Amino acid sequence: MSERTCNLRPKTEGAQVARSICPYCGVGCGQLVYHKNGKLISIEGDLQSPVSRGHLCPKGADTFELHTHRGRLKKVKYRAPYSSEWQDIDSEKAMDMVAERVWDTRERTFQEMRDGETLMQTTAMAHLGGATLDIEENYLIRKLFTVGLGMVCISNQARI
Ligand code: SF4
Repeated sequence: MSERTCNLRPKTEGAQVARSICPYCGVGCGQLVYHKNGKLISIEGDLQSPVSRGHLCPKGADTFELHTHRGRLKKVKYRAPYSSEWQDIDSEKAMDMVAERVWDTRERTFQEMRDGETLMQTTAMAHLGGATLDIEENYLIRKLFTVGLGMVCISNQARI
């Protein structure tokens, strides 16, 4: 081996490590998050995880890039009706806009009765969940959207 090769050190040397869970899907594979001086160094499979025993699928193995890729979007993008341009808006404003649209749609389309039968629903909105939502979050989503707003079209990716 060359002297240079002998002196090579692992990129995680001296780094602190935190145990975490892959953010992508409901399998919940274990990850080790290496960081040094407040900077993310690497994210790798956790050998101690009883779920994945150190393995990560291609999505999980790319979690480091999910955080650090220069093309990662960090602001909410908004394209106004009939516009061909995207604009950055802050997340507070975006959440207000979503809430206003949800409430407006519900107000305009909620049906209390149909053909003499009680209906209490709207089919004008749908909800598509993400796979990392846990059972408590799904319970709250179901409670809010079905019981609270009367939505019937609700789906969640977590079918594993
Ligand atoms: S996306 Fe892949 S690595 Fe992540 S939890 Fe799912 S199966 Fe595991």
